[in-house]
Amino acid sequence: MSTDLVSATGLVEQLYAELEQKVRLLRPKDDLTQLEKAYRLAADAHKSQLRQSGEPYMVHPLQVTLILADMQMDMVCLETGLLHDTVEDTSVSIDQIRRTFGEEVAGCVDGVTKLSKLNLYSREERQAESVRKMLLAMVNDIRVIIVKLADRLHNMRTMDALPRERQERIAQETLDIYAPIAHRLGMGKIRGELEDLSFKYLEPEASAELRREIDSYRQQNEEFLNKMRHDVEVNLARENIPARVEGRVKRAYSIYQKMKRQKIGLEQVYDLLALRIITDSVKNCYAALGVIHNEWHPIPGRIKDFIAIPRPNLYQSLHTSVIGPGGRSCEVQIRTDEMHRLAEEGIAAHWKYKEGRKGPGADDQRIIWLRQLVEWQKELRDPGEFMSTLKVDLYPEEVYTFTPKGRVIVLPRDATPIDFAFSIHSDVGNTCVGAKVNGRIVPLKYALKNGDVVEILTQAGHLPSKDWLALVKTSKARNKIRHVINTTERAKAIEIGQKYLEREARRLGAQLSRVTRADLESVASDYGCGKIEDLHAALGYGKFSARQVLQKLAPDQVEALPAEVPKPPPSTTGQPTEATGDLVIKVKGCDDLLVYRAKCCNPIRGEGIVGYVTRGKGVAVHSTNCSNVQNLMYEVERKIDVEWARAASETFPVKIQIYTDDRPGMLNQLTSLLFAEQSNIISLEARSEHKGVEGAVIDMTIEIRDKKQLERVVSAVRRISGVRDVERTQ
Ligand code: MN
Repeated sequence: MSTDLVSATGLVEQLYAELEQKVRLLRPKDDLTQLEKAYRLAADAHKSQLRQSGEPYMVHPLQVTLILADMQMDMVCLETGLLHDTVEDTSVSIDQIRRTFGEEVAGCVDGVTKLSKLNLYSREERQAESVRKMLLAMVNDIRVIIVKLADRLHNMRTMDALPRERQERIAQETLDIYAPIAHRLGMGKIRGELEDLSFKYLEPEASAELRREIDSYRQQNEEFLNKMRHDVEVNLARENIPARVEGRVKRAYSIYQKMKRQKIGLEQVYDLLALRIITDSVKNCYAALGVIHNEWHPIPGRIKDFIAIPRPNLYQSLHTSVIGPGGRSCEVQIRTDEMHRLAEEGIAAHWKYKEGRKGPGADDQRIIWLRQLVEWQKELRDPGEFMSTLKVDLYPEEVYTFTPKGRVIVLPRDATPIDFAFSIHSDVGNTCVGAKVNGRIVPLKYALKNGDVVEILTQAGHLPSKDWLALVKTSKARNKIRHVINTTERAKAIEIGQKYLEREARRLGAQLSRVTRADLESVASDYGCGKIEDLHAALGYGKFSARQVLQKLAPDQVEALPAEVPKPPPSTTGQPTEATGDLVIKVKGCDDLLVYRAKCCNPIRGEGIVGYVTRGKGVAVHSTNCSNVQNLMYEVERKIDVEWARAASETFPVKIQIYTDDRPGMLNQLTSLLFAEQSNIISLEARSEHKGVEGAVIDMTIEIRDKKQLERVVSAVRRISGVRDVERTQ
């Protein structure tokens, strides 16, 4: 073993000895067996690793754990501190930790590992707030955050060996994310140090300049604070108020912020110097305030009672600023020991070791404090249960997701990729056809989870489906989808209604060209429709009969209908054409809409059919087997249910192609078969040889009444000897 390694091992062992000593002192009843086990496991796992500074890596987890020990955190926290980098950086597994150290430690190590993997670098304020909330929501044990803060603090203290760029990135992230979390958790001490360290790395010149300036007044400041402190102590003692008095200079980063915000110089920062009076009771806090105001002149408007009205993070103190010796202003903070501890340690105070007590009682001041502290958590269930399990679900109703570029999208729990798409932009939502979560395609009903990275797949021209209404959780998405559906349905109805009216007019021999716009408007208003469009829409929705409307429009041309009128008989001659529509098919629940059979599949009676609203041509009816249907159904909103009308005496032209042996008598057999089936032949074409294969091909168009007849014809043709295959063609 080289001397270096010996001394390195020595350093590590020495730090561990220091840790044990500290824990024995601060938590005398704790058993250290598991702590030592955690140390041995971590030291072994990290043994060949070095930090950027050249120190053995193990120094870092040990220093982190020393910070936690100073905060008097519990054994779970300390073991997590020692193990916190093992899963991420070594071959140790979470299962291994679970087996040796139990569920709680494993859960915490896992949480810290997950947080380390997140890239939280962000300058945008709004975003940073979401990330902070997300972090708090992601961990279900607040100790994960406390260990993470200690980890970050030690990293920030030892960044000098890192390249400039990484220093800046880490410092920015600390300032944006971790310092505010410490603040929210009431951990004033850690927050202050994190901020000052970040300031040093982010604004090296400004920070050095400010430090120099503060330093240049150091002697002056110290003299002032010493004198002031002495005077305060004397005055308080005279009034029998027990107190500890501390003098301090405001922290660099908060001075800097104040100077920047108020555009003032250092000498104008009135609370640059402060005294802190820590006494035993709330009563004595107010008594001390009286003593101070009696001795020094208070600055009006600077007296703040955070005891009566605590800050949101439950900070409590009395603040006042007075004109001290030599006319210098000085801030005075007055608080009890308990308030002081909470101001410094915040939520971490909960785990502090206390002689003879197992857990906090329900009326514990700290529970009340914690309850308010997590005011962000809308409804805390039973606080006793909350504390005993140490589980926090700070934002139970929210889920924090990311765009591929790292923007945070906050959604309600169980929100789907559709909600995500609409919260980015309604265009993204409308054209959403699919989604990838963490790189994998997921169904649109997928419930998003905290930390999911969501990528929305879009297709131009696509429109939302009605089914989406059942999937979305946000009202924004729901409203947008409804809006689009209503608009498309209405447009569709207007289109259909207009065609319907024109078709009926043609059928009844009425000339719409003679009808003026004013006539139309007046009839529309007779029907309670504000605009002509509304009348068309109502016709399209099937609310009124076109004939009745026409009768009003052109009473001289269209006869009034008797109350019950049979439907006009369907056309029995020739093929239905697009121009006149197809009366053998009707739209379900909505008679007389303009329909025609699609040319691509030419469905015949008896086949499964589906309607599809075209632009400007009415409803196209396809066979459900039609290959185009799959594509068309992309726009589900344009689909319409259709059925075969009852009238059954018409026929459909059907093309078939027959492959046969080239033999005499074949055509004869075919035509007599069709005659027997009462199917007329419209056209027939036979040719021998097909693509070099011996034989004949017969193309024919025949009249077919329905699907059943076609099936009979085809199977009969197949039975003819010499027929190799029969196909229906389009
Ligand atoms: Mn670490």
